[in-house]
Amino acid sequence: MNKIISLCKRRGFVFQGSEIYGGLANTWDYGPLGAELKQNVKRMWWKKVVHEREDVVGLDSAILMHPRVWEASGHVAGFNDALIDCKQCKSRFRADHLIEDALNMHVEGKSVQELTQIIHGNKIKCPVCGDVAWTDARVFNLMFKTHQGVTEDSSSVVYLRPETAQGIFVNFKNVLDTSRVKLPFGIAQIGKAFRNEITPGNFIFRTREFEQMELEYFVKPGDDMNWFEFWRQFTMDFFLALGVKKENLRLRDHAPEELSHYSKATTDLEYKFPFGWGELWGVANRTDFDLTKHMEYSGKTLTYFDQAENRQITPYVIEPSLGVDRAMLVLLCDAYREEEVEGETRVVLGFHPEMAPIKCAVLPLSKKEPLEELARKIYHDLKKYYHMEYDNTGSIGKRYRRQDEIGTPYAITVDFDSLEDHKITVRDRDTMQQDRIDIANVREYLRDKLGF
Ligand code: ATP
Repeated sequence: MNKIISLCKRRGFVFQGSEIYGGLANTWDYGPLGAELKQNVKRMWWKKVVHEREDVVGLDSAILMHPRVWEASGHVAGFNDALIDCKQCKSRFRADHLIEDALNMHVEGKSVQELTQIIHGNKIKCPVCGDVAWTDARVFNLMFKTHQGVTEDSSSVVYLRPETAQGIFVNFKNVLDTSRVKLPFGIAQIGKAFRNEITPGNFIFRTREFEQMELEYFVKPGDDMNWFEFWRQFTMDFFLALGVKKENLRLRDHAPEELSHYSKATTDLEYKFPFGWGELWGVANRTDFDLTKHMEYSGKTLTYFDQAENRQITPYVIEPSLGVDRAMLVLLCDAYREEEVEGETRVVLGFHPEMAPIKCAVLPLSKKEPLEELARKIYHDLKKYYHMEYDNTGSIGKRYRRQDEIGTPYAITVDFDSLEDHKITVRDRDTMQQDRIDIANVREYLRDKLGF
């Protein structure tokens, strides 16, 4: 993991947040390459979930919402984690994580008293000092609170949304009334979410500010388990298609006692991170819980008129929810490899071409004219199609290594012969093989190789 973090910093994928002020713990800023990777992840999700389907529409709702939204959704009363302190060294932990790590046992849905009993009863050791004396576990609400307007009384309290999903539920009727959607249909959204996590960490895996890509897929009650199965498999296929190794992915179905009270079935797509298996994408059958609650709290009708049955129904909803930052971490971890090449270590990020921040680099062998002019022309011509990089500094070996490290699939070298034979050399990141091709054919060549 340290190697990945240091590469991310060195090459401009991810920086410590507010670094020049000593950093703000567990905040991260995406640098030029990280911002590209993030866009690519989001674009691919949007393409697969919205554009390639005829039954899903997009939405971009506000982060700040009416406080009643979070009462209806259950977040004010129940969006809690249990935390527990070591009496000896005062370190603080999430009770469920402590149990999962020590006993390899999933305890979602257990009460705070039950969690305390498990930790005390099993004499779980503090990971920091090894002591077994714990306080009782207690609940902690994860929502960030702030105030809207100039007064700070309770009437102006608003929350930063802890998930994007509720923005979709409260717009259910708006979408129904303005687009031609018919059951089953989905509403998708990408956006920031905020959770005052007790134990953020593992780089960008768990942060207090993060981004989610959520789909709420509304179905007829009765069809829900078929669609649950469909989206469950979709999550796995999505990452396999991006080249993520099969052995690093698994679908973990929640046991009945683990399920949230509103959920009929939940599965997590998990990835084998360097620090262990962790949730990447959660898929839940939330039944009609959310729409029913919002009807109760808002007094508005959020039903669907089923023409075949000639009656109003409250759809069930399947929710696949994926973190953008976690997806990026998966792509970085899975793509990272080190190889021995002629006695030296070559570091490569073997990204899928669609995910690679830079698709192709142009590297002139000399800064002399007219060679540079030719190289620049090739770079500018290709820039219309791909995100390109131009690099004319340092030895060619160093320049290749940099492109390998940032995951650029192809690098073009322009040499003095190119001025005569109108050919260039294209090097493949993975095989390191070089093809000499006509400059006139370079766009077709790349389209063939990259697949777009
Ligand atoms: P955990 O149990 O790990 O706290 P969760 O089950 O609460 O996670 P969900 O509410 O299902 O997570 O969130 C959906 C997705 O959003 C997760 O699968 C993950 O990819 C992402 N996510 C959730 N919390 C965070 C966070 N603090 N930082 C980064 N991504 C997150």
